[in-house]
Amino acid sequence: MIADLHTHSTASDGQYSPGELARLAKARGLEAWALTDHDSLGGLDEAVREGEALGLRVIRGIELSADDYLNLHILGYAFPADSPSLQRTASGLQQGRDHRKYRIQAFLQEQGVDIPLEEVEAEAKGGSIGRPHFAQVMLRHGYVKTRKEAFDRYLDIPAFQAIEKGTKPSAEACIRAIKAAGGKVSLAHPYQIVLGNDCLEDLVRRLKDCGLDAVECYYTKHTPQQQAEYLALAERYDLHVTGGSDFHGEKNKPDCPLAAVELDLDWLISG
Ligand code: AMP
Ligand code: ZN
Ligand code: FE
Ligand code: FE
Repeated sequence: MIADLHTHSTASDGQYSPGELARLAKARGLEAWALTDHDSLGGLDEAVREGEALGLRVIRGIELSADDYLNLHILGYAFPADSPSLQRTASGLQQGRDHRKYRIQAFLQEQGVDIPLEEVEAEAKGGSIGRPHFAQVMLRHGYVKTRKEAFDRYLDIPAFQAIEKGTKPSAEACIRAIKAAGGKVSLAHPYQIVLGNDCLEDLVRRLKDCGLDAVECYYTKHTPQQQAEYLALAERYDLHVTGGSDFHGEKNKPDCPLAAVELDLDWLISG
């Protein structure tokens, strides 16, 4: 099927509402579309309602932030609307984000970046607060010239990683919550995981033992070499392949338009 299995709405740090995303997905010619907001199930009912009205196959999704490494994100798919284990995990991560915004503000202050939290909250428009909202306000106040600079200099550096450590569930707990809900699990954007001296293959082997089903091999920012490496890894460990854009809207992430990836989704969509 022609699909994009990695997108974000206003329920986390995306620009468009789930309904607007459904219309964009339809216009992009997709057959299957998954909404995968960060640590949030909040946009899914609207996504399913609006997407199915347009004839799209809508797959419920979520992108959970795991503690093991910075940017280790676990994608959950095709779980039922009522998934208490997943709801608990998402709520825990949302509570974590409520505390995290103060830690991020204090961290930035230590670095000489003083921005009002109210503006960051306003950027999130009621959705969950993430680093891109901080980056936007840092840009507005002239601390950085681009959002990317905010990440490169402040929000994606080892010192930032240190303030995150121990605040999120482990990858294993994320996978178990998705599996307990009856969902399927893919490892998001492998290139982005800050592995330090550790090796991706060891991580994949460990996560496979916890129930990992797939690897997100197709991703906007993967180079052809990375894509080939991840496809080989998926093959070696008998894992399925997923793919998506990580679309957040042109304003939030101009370099990641909606993707149209050809995927075998029989394993994900049964019945
Ligand atoms: P958070 O959920 O607060 O950890 O933020 C995750 C968001 O930050 C995702 O949308 C990522 O695409 C974005 N992000 C992570 N690292 C970078 C980076 N180096 N440059 C730009 N955006 C990034
Ligand atoms: Zn995001
Ligand atoms: Fe991610
Ligand atoms: Fe994402």
